[in-house]
Amino acid sequence: MIERTIFNEEHELFRRSVRRFVETEVAPNHMKWEDAGVVPKEAWLKAGEAGVLCCAIPEEYGGMGGNFLHSAIVIEELARTGSNGPCFPLHSDIVSPYLHHHGSEELKKKWLPKMATGEVRSAVGMTEPSGGSDLQNIRTSARRDGGDYVINGQKVFISNAQGADFIIVACKTDPTARAKGISLILVETDRPGFSRGRRLEKVGSHAQDLSELFFSNCRVPVTNLVGTENRGFYHLMQELAQERLVQAVKAVASAEAMLNWTIEYTSQRDAFGKKVSDFQNTQFVLADLCSQILLCRVFVDRCLALHVEGKLDGPLAAVAKMTSAEMQGRVADACLQLHGGWGYMREMAIGRAWVDARQARLAGGSIEIMKLIIAKQIMPKAK
Ligand SMILES: Cc1cc2nc3c(=O)[nH]c(=O)nc-3n(C[C@H](O)[C@H](O)[C@H](O)COP(=O)(O)OP(=O)(O)OC[C@H]3O[C@@H](n4cnc5c(N)ncnc54)[C@H](O)[C@@H]3O)c2cc1C
Repeated sequence: MIERTIFNEEHELFRRSVRRFVETEVAPNHMKWEDAGVVPKEAWLKAGEAGVLCCAIPEEYGGMGGNFLHSAIVIEELARTGSNGPCFPLHSDIVSPYLHHHGSEELKKKWLPKMATGEVRSAVGMTEPSGGSDLQNIRTSARRDGGDYVINGQKVFISNAQGADFIIVACKTDPTARAKGISLILVETDRPGFSRGRRLEKVGSHAQDLSELFFSNCRVPVTNLVGTENRGFYHLMQELAQERLVQAVKAVASAEAMLNWTIEYTSQRDAFGKKVSDFQNTQFVLADLCSQILLCRVFVDRCLALHVEGKLDGPLAAVAKMTSAEMQGRVADACLQLHGGWGYMREMAIGRAWVDARQARLAGGSIEIMKLIIAKQIMPKAK
């Protein structure tokens, strides 16, 4: 209904190739991956071959040399088919930027090219059992011992951890400090002292694996430090705008998909001698949802343009994440309703998308944390 002006012809060509990849290699296998609870390594290797991973990483580090608009295309095309199992965006647009922007040359050369081919899979570990919102209060410690850090502690709710070859772990390197005592350390998952716990059973997003992690005197060389010691919290903050934009882009694309599935379904379903789409209620609900999606679409596209110019700040990204995740939840609920009982069946895309949408208001910073960030911006004295 509204022309998107942020993408050029080259982006559209890229979109066509990503769409082909998602429709042939991802969507037909997604249900199988949901049953297995994990996306297999072959799918990552195929994604690497198709140029779907680390699009925004420069060519000298094995990436495509694109920008975040290429990443947005991958996120949108996955969401369009309800394929939220493959953690490609987490790997490409959340983990790889930590290395690219803050990692040493040695770390970048060692890991980024293999991340782009899918040979190496990655995750990020911030949340702990005692809480995820108050990140400054993490307890996992990294003590310096000669040329090593010795890591002890525990993480929880870590996406993509089961197959990950390394995890960027937020650790306390100065236990007496809050934000100023956090460092980011790359931990290879074959190091002694590191272990994965069970794959956590979620209510939705079944193909996306989520795990506990344990560190017991896990030794990692100090060269695995990502960025500056005790500046980890600031590095996290620098990357959070993009992380929130990833979620906003996904939420809008997912809502658009749900609307399209519902228009199609109600146009075919009969009730009282008519199509369900003939009822004025159906038309009004769909018109309302379409308007809500459009408002978010225009705002998120504006944020995308700002981000590509390096001008997207944390509070604006928080607005994008919050409004689009809440909109996604409303759209999922109303669209499921219009599918009737079939909407509640797992075999229907809308049923799965409805459950999957719930995580958007929690993961990567809850709605309440987004409100705190926005309030601090508009009310400088807010704590
Ligand atoms: C599917 C999924 C994937 C995830 N993937 C990852 C991952 O890959 N890596 C990772 O590190 N983490 C991950 N997480 C964890 C996620 O980031 C946390 O769940 C989130 O940050 C909230 O932390 P918490 O669950 O400990 O809730 P808590 O921090 O315990 O919060 C509980 C409730 O209190 C509210 N609250 C907290 N503080 C305030 C406040 N100051 N004011 C008002 N309300 C407040 C919260 O909004 C929430 O509603 C994932 C979570 C999910 C569900």
